[in-house]
Amino acid sequence: MFSDPLKRLTRNIGLRLSLWYAAVFALSSVGLLALAYYLLVVAIGRKDREVLEARLKEAAVVYQSGGNPGLRRWVETQPDAVQRRLFVRVVNAFNSVVFLSAPEDWVTFHDVPVLQNYRQEVELVRIPQNAERDFTLASAVLGNRSLLQVGRITDSRQALLEPVRRNFLIAGSVTLLVGFLAGIFFANRAMSPIRQIVTTVKSILRTGQLGSRVPVRASDDELDELVRLFNTLLDRNQALIKAMREALDNVAHDLRTPLSRLRATAEQALQAEPNSETPREALSDCMEESERLLNMLNTLTDITEAETGMMRLDRQPTDLARLATEVVELYEYVAEEKRIQIQTDLPPPSDAPVDPTRIRQVFANLLDNAIKYTPEGGRVCISLRQEPGFLAVSFQDNGMGIPLEEQEKIWTRLYRGDKSRSKRGLGLGLSLVKAVVEAHGGAVTVSSLPDQGAAFKVTLPTSIPALEKGNSPSGPVTPLSPVLVTGKNPAS
Ligand code: ADP
Repeated sequence: MFSDPLKRLTRNIGLRLSLWYAAVFALSSVGLLALAYYLLVVAIGRKDREVLEARLKEAAVVYQSGGNPGLRRWVETQPDAVQRRLFVRVVNAFNSVVFLSAPEDWVTFHDVPVLQNYRQEVELVRIPQNAERDFTLASAVLGNRSLLQVGRITDSRQALLEPVRRNFLIAGSVTLLVGFLAGIFFANRAMSPIRQIVTTVKSILRTGQLGSRVPVRASDDELDELVRLFNTLLDRNQALIKAMREALDNVAHDLRTPLSRLRATAEQALQAEPNSETPREALSDCMEESERLLNMLNTLTDITEAETGMMRLDRQPTDLARLATEVVELYEYVAEEKRIQIQTDLPPPSDAPVDPTRIRQVFANLLDNAIKYTPEGGRVCISLRQEPGFLAVSFQDNGMGIPLEEQEKIWTRLYRGDKSRSKRGLGLGLSLVKAVVEAHGGAVTVSSLPDQGAAFKVTLPTSIPALEKGNSPSGPVTPLSPVLVTGKNPAS
């Protein structure tokens, strides 16, 4: 049974990664050290063999030319240090030793094997003599079937390699420890964004504060991307919740007046004489008021959806000039009533991938405002220009204009200019225009001077923005609110 902290430790990804890392590291280090050790042993062996083979060949030549006396002389002419470690023996075809020169105090004579069936080549036998010395023996069969053996005492292979083994063990242990600690360090470092995400989520859940974000590091790896995406997700959620709260506040605030009006009108109808005209008029007022309310609610929903990226856009190649012309035709009657002249400058080509219904709504709102806020006999000009990657449609009037201090506020939901309150409207038209245009990846700007008119410029991209490609929702299009949010049909 694991205790709780131990359980938590075994579930720690950083620790598990380090253990894996250390295990792989240990295996590779052991492999490398073993290879190095093997190569060392082979190199030492090769050197011994070369020395002994040279001696054997020399002795063979001497023996064949000078026999036993020659061989004795050859042994005696060897330097002292060599002689003290040299073993030479000749065994004839009848297995009798005919020559022997051996450092008897070191070599146990009887331990030296007499191997008769040797081939012509040199054969090497290594006989460990004691803890400190080895005895290496090379044998060759000579022409007369006798066997020449040359042996040599060397330092014990075991004793020679022992310090190497010890050092390898120390180096291996140190490397393993360093590897394990480095593994813990790097795994911990790599896992820090995940821990930060967990901390941030916990803090949001605990405090309900949606503003917490995971700190982004300078490096640009996958975990950083995860953190950035996670923060973007939190941003979007926060914006969504904020927009929903605002919309709810606006609705609560702005529904109060029309609902009270509705109620008062209904009351008036109830109290009126049964046969009088008052109930009919009151009912008609109620109808108008509820239509206005419905309009407002639909538009608020549209704005919220567009602002939060939830609006489904049915994008298709659309001729913006044609769309603008259609809207102008729709408003001809209203403009004529006010003797406002509408001029158009809409040169082709003007195709853009937009949702035609939504953009028609945008153009209609801007033209409606231009006519509404321009006095009788005024002029409205609609023009289309190409800009690199964009199409810009401008609505310019020579009406009352917008004071500088109001130009920022006009995009806010339910905001109405001071001088505009006498005109019909809900203060939602420009908020919807901005939200829809931005949902298309475009922008809308205003330039205006009081009493000199206003110019609204809508810029729309001529290709679908990269972020939206392949990501565009394909479900049914959200039901549209009526084209106008001003509560009045221009054609009526
Ligand atoms: P509404 O027109 O219903 O008041 P909008 O959101 O369409 O709401 O416009 C917000 C405010 O911006 C208006 O109340 C008005 O003060 C100002 N505005 C918009 N268009 C124009 C324009 N063409 N000329 C002057 N003022 C304008």
